[in-house]
Amino acid sequence: MDYKKHITVIEDYPQKGVSFKDITTLMQNGEVYQQAIHDMAAFARQKNIDVVVGPEARGFVVGCPIAYALGKGFVPVRKKGKLPRETVDADYGLEYGKDTLSIHKDAIQAGQRVLITDDLLATGGTIRATIDLVEQLGGEVAGLAFLIELRYLDGRKGIDQYDLYSLMIYE
Ligand code: IMP
Repeated sequence: MDYKKHITVIEDYPQKGVSFKDITTLMQNGEVYQQAIHDMAAFARQKNIDVVVGPEARGFVVGCPIAYALGKGFVPVRKKGKLPRETVDADYGLEYGKDTLSIHKDAIQAGQRVLITDDLLATGGTIRATIDLVEQLGGEVAGLAFLIELRYLDGRKGIDQYDLYSLMIYE
């Protein structure tokens, strides 16, 4: 499947110099969205995972259907202050900004095999913070899966020890 033709690229959004990849045009096509999730779930199945973790908000768009397809649980990672119970936290830098991510302290059991997923790997800040949260709880990161990887932002740097799958790569 030629997934890239379903991605809309917007230059200089949300700020000058950024080439924004809009996945909503892929999602609004049921057949393409289903196939994309199917491919990501196949990777997760190979990794024999116990649970799926995804950062808000677009990590939910891919993470929830993958978890559902595999009959596994989904654990949300959210901006600090949004989760109602006790959390652990990790700071991160974005392609454009800085923030803190949180996960419920009881969301992952030590030794569980975790798939971490998000729509897009840019600089890798979001995913490194999410890995940090999972590992603070004793989870084993079994794989990382993305719809899109922006190679030119070098997001793989520092996380090459993990098995990383991306459906689309922009060089
Ligand atoms: P990173 O932390 O720099 O890797 O940025 C990844 C996060 O920013 C993901 O959660 C994305 O949803 C969001 N993001 C960054 N660039 C884009 C883009 O071009 N399109 C859609 N989302 C983006």
